[in-house]
Amino acid sequence: MKKDLIFVGVILLFAGILLMWQKVTSSNGNRVLVSQDGEVIASYDLDCDREELLTFESGCNYLKITAGKASIVQADCPDQICVHQPSICHVGETIICLPHKLVVEVTGNKEQKEEGYDAISQ
Ligand SMILES: [Zn+2]
Repeated sequence: MKKDLIFVGVILLFAGILLMWQKVTSSNGNRVLVSQDGEVIASYDLDCDREELLTFESGCNYLKITAGKASIVQADCPDQICVHQPSICHVGETIICLPHKLVVEVTGNKEQKEEGYDAISQ
């Protein structure tokens, strides 16, 4: 009786982990695109922690990527809205710095990558 319960518990646990894993892999982006004044100036891997000082004519923004999330931790813009925006990790989420015309956007190409691998293996 007790063993059965443990067995069911283990199965439920695995099902839960699998569901969570699918959710994480499907909705989380794996790259951030940084564009300034409509032009892409940089793109970084979300999987690698890094800190990057983005400088351009109108000023600078300090981009931080940690634990798969991107955020602006410092900027010399007058409104500081970008600094106060929450960190982003899902495909399509953006951090915008209007005074600097800066857009940081999460893009996901994990699925595209997997499709690519499939095409190669076939
Ligand atoms: Zn700003």
